[in-house]
Amino acid sequence: MSISGECFCGDVKYQVEGNLRDARSCHCSRCRKAFSAQASAYAVVEPKEFKWVSGKELLTSYVGEHGFGLQFCKICGSTICGILNGEVHGVTLGCVNGDPEIELGRHIYVGSKASWEQIPDGVPQYLEGEPEGWSNA
Ligand SMILES: [Zn+2]
Ligand SMILES: [Zn+2]
Repeated sequence: MSISGECFCGDVKYQVEGNLRDARSCHCSRCRKAFSAQASAYAVVEPKEFKWVSGKELLTSYVGEHGFGLQFCKICGSTICGILNGEVHGVTLGCVNGDPEIELGRHIYVGSKASWEQIPDGVPQYLEGEPEGWSNA
């Protein structure tokens, strides 16, 4: 399938020719800050199926010590994608346009969720569980 995504201001756009995989939401305190939200909402992409359509020069990156990082639009601040060792690793579901035909499959680090968050029943929850490539993020 063909999936598009863009930031809040619309200057950064990308296209995925393929499927998103392993959609997950991490409730750790670091993801809350990185996503400015109650949790992350993120899915993995195949790097060769991902391409920037516009605004690549507007991206700014924050990379942690394990080579995993996030890229943001420096105009509007949207968290757009995750990178691992300089290559795109996944996309934030909030910036995906339309229906990517995937749902969050697991909620992780619910043991450290914010006191104000209520997680709905009926979704797989894990007290911990760092997904691959998401080290300390
Ligand atoms: Zn933007
Ligand atoms: Zn996290």
